[in-house]
Amino acid sequence: NQAAVRSFMASERPDTLIIAAARVGGILANARFPADFLYDNLMIETNLIDAAFRNGVGRLLFLGSSCIYPRLAAQPIVESELLNGPLEPTNEAYAIAKIAGIKLCAAYNRQHATDFRSFMPTNLYGPGDNFDPDGSHVIPGLMRRFHEAMEDGVGQVTVWGTGTPKREFLHVDDMARAALHVLTLDKADYDAATSPTQSHLNVGTGIDIEIRALAAMIAEVTGFKGRILFDSSKPDGTPRKCLNTRAIKRLGWAPEITLRDGLHSTYKWFRANSLVRC
Ligand code: GDP
Repeated sequence: NQAAVRSFMASERPDTLIIAAARVGGILANARFPADFLYDNLMIETNLIDAAFRNGVGRLLFLGSSCIYPRLAAQPIVESELLNGPLEPTNEAYAIAKIAGIKLCAAYNRQHATDFRSFMPTNLYGPGDNFDPDGSHVIPGLMRRFHEAMEDGVGQVTVWGTGTPKREFLHVDDMARAALHVLTLDKADYDAATSPTQSHLNVGTGIDIEIRALAAMIAEVTGFKGRILFDSSKPDGTPRKCLNTRAIKRLGWAPEITLRDGLHSTYKWFRANSLVRC
């Protein structure tokens, strides 16, 4: 709602804006609702970025996603791979919206001398994630499935796809620290690490893991000891999307939470917050 966003921004007059708001979801949600993912994300970012400009917001950080890169980008993916090839079809709508957001920030910077920065985080996870069985990403999706299998005394769990794709995962608290770190950098330092045509920074660990190995790790964390099956009728998505994070590391940020520790704290949160099933 453009009018509501403009009036909110004019009355609150924030000095800093972090655009984490988005319509997000896992591989099935993205593939099923492309219109929602494209329209809602374009509306969110165009309304917020333009209202930020009109109200003189000094610091703005726009969050995208590693799915903005071409499906078969060279790995680990450097920022300059953007727009070098066709996108992964299962998340094309979301990616197009996020690419538009990066380019909108860059265009305001060029035309209006703003200092709008963009972040492309790898797959995020952690406490507070969305554990919906259909709409979630792989970590919360599998965590819930293993948990419920144990509750129900079921001896097997099915993982979507072939288990061979690789993904990189970043804990949400590492992401939050990266956001604060980059927002407080001097403009000259941010500009030196980016360029007008390549105005965004990757945020990740630079380490990826096969879905098969991830499933085994989540089984261990949840205590599930049954069989793990693979349903190859479900989409695999892109084979690999591991980010090159040299630029942000050079600016002084590095992740601190290992995947295993992060999975443990996420599972603890899930158990404390999951609703009792009917
Ligand atoms: P993506 O990185 O956009 O593909 O996001 P996802 O987190 O949804 O999927 C990552 C990979 O995990 C894909 O290869 C999925 O097929 C696979 N996967 C395996 N089991 C699940 C599950 O229960 N939920 C989701 N969302 N993905 C799963």
